[in-house]
Amino acid sequence: MFNQSQKTAVFLLIFAFLGSAFPPAFRAQNQVYKTALTDELKLDLLIKGGLVIDGTYRKPVKTDIGIRGDRIVFIGNSAKSKMLAARTLDAAGMIVAPGFIDPHTHTLEDLSNPKLNSNENYLMQGVTTVITGNDGGGPVQVAQTLAKWEQQRIGTNAALLVGHNTVRRQIMAMSDSAPTIEQLAEMKNLVGQAMTEGAFGFSTGLYYAPGSFAKTEEVIELAKKAAEKGGIYDSHLRDESSYTIGLLGSIRETIRIGREAKIPVNISHIKALGRDVWGQSPAVIKLIKQARAKGIRVTADQYPYTASGTGITAALVPRWAEAGGNTALLERIRDQQVRPRLLAEMETNLKRRGGAESILITGSRNRELVGKTLGALALQQKKSAIETALDIVSSGGASIASFNMNESDIENFMKLNFVMTGSDGSSGHPRKYGTFPRKLRQYVFEKKLITLPFAIRAASALTAESFRIPERGRIKVGYFADVIVFDPKTVADRATYEQPEKFSTGMKYVIVNGKISIDEGKYTKVLAGRALRKLNSNQQK
Ligand SMILES: [Zn+2]
Repeated sequence: MFNQSQKTAVFLLIFAFLGSAFPPAFRAQNQVYKTALTDELKLDLLIKGGLVIDGTYRKPVKTDIGIRGDRIVFIGNSAKSKMLAARTLDAAGMIVAPGFIDPHTHTLEDLSNPKLNSNENYLMQGVTTVITGNDGGGPVQVAQTLAKWEQQRIGTNAALLVGHNTVRRQIMAMSDSAPTIEQLAEMKNLVGQAMTEGAFGFSTGLYYAPGSFAKTEEVIELAKKAAEKGGIYDSHLRDESSYTIGLLGSIRETIRIGREAKIPVNISHIKALGRDVWGQSPAVIKLIKQARAKGIRVTADQYPYTASGTGITAALVPRWAEAGGNTALLERIRDQQVRPRLLAEMETNLKRRGGAESILITGSRNRELVGKTLGALALQQKKSAIETALDIVSSGGASIASFNMNESDIENFMKLNFVMTGSDGSSGHPRKYGTFPRKLRQYVFEKKLITLPFAIRAASALTAESFRIPERGRIKVGYFADVIVFDPKTVADRATYEQPEKFSTGMKYVIVNGKISIDEGKYTKVLAGRALRKLNSNQQK
């Protein structure tokens, strides 16, 4: 009925009408309207005079960045090009970089909670996109979760992984058996469905029950479903220490999963946990490099702290004691036939983690425990450390910071060009508030272990490429305008183990999808994040 130019004219008329009928916020989002009816050169935002580090290894360049709608539309000398902008941000003396992407967070609940959906702790670190559902904990109901986020809105972009533990629990509860053929088929369906609904990949937590009960073959079968849709396999290793198959055994297992399921694999929060495996980082790196040389896509992420964060049950109780779930665990603790074996194995596990002084309680229903080490509590209660720990386990558990890493392994991993920055943020551990600025402050500016462009890439483009998130993670024309402007002199973490909820400093502007979420260092209460859906594999590059 209409030819192309007539159609365009009709659309423009409609947009002009909508433009006058809707508030400015709606109009600003509408690129077509802006392009058609206002000056072609007019930008919404101009970031002027900053040192731009674009997410590649390219040298920093002093230049200007123009944003219109939710996209970066201009990079260059804005004065020369006579760019006009509704607002200009002065970035003189500042670093301008792609918004950081965090590949490992525990924000699933925060984002779904209308009081915590801003992700302010992440925005203040310069993080504009989070991935969640890691460690095998991601939801099966991906579409529903994404729709909820869209409806109530979120402060950062967020992408989901479907979790093995969730899938397994839904089909097999806390059973430690292998799945029947039917159960395996049901689990595969759930993974496939979640991928169709927009998950970016499949996560496992093979250290935790019930994931720990799964054989490698089960994991491979499920990972294949994620591979079909171009997803990634993201794993908290079966053993980061010397509990079962060992750190190196776990790296081998992950590589095998990548090879046999034909899927890119990411090792979550890579570390050598405990004295037994300290110094194994070179051997780990060698295995990964060999696999990469054979074409298996292996990456890892890491947080810059010597303490991990987990639950006291996960850290100390052997997995066999958790088979059947919590009621079965409590029965075993009370069973005088079983208890001695349980205590003995917990003793070994505590030693592995550096002893009672290395375990700090960071969260518990019993507030009196928080902030104390297991050693101090044992002394106070006049019991052995293990008896004290078992009491805590019996009365609902506790979250802990477990000081178990050494600096040289941390640095060895950090220097690799396939290791991303990831917070693994959890309540009570400072990494949730401090990871990204801490790495810049300590390892770039103070120790000079890595360069600033290297650290920026590890926190942005590398993550977007590894997790296959399109059009984010770089300062590039046409890309989404997730851009941060920070002060290299003041960027730093402030959160500590004593005060884990202190915001980081140094972010002057944080822009999410073209909207200013941190303005002059302050949160603007703009919820500009998007629930990200994975495109079909045939649309993948
Ligand atoms: Zn984990």
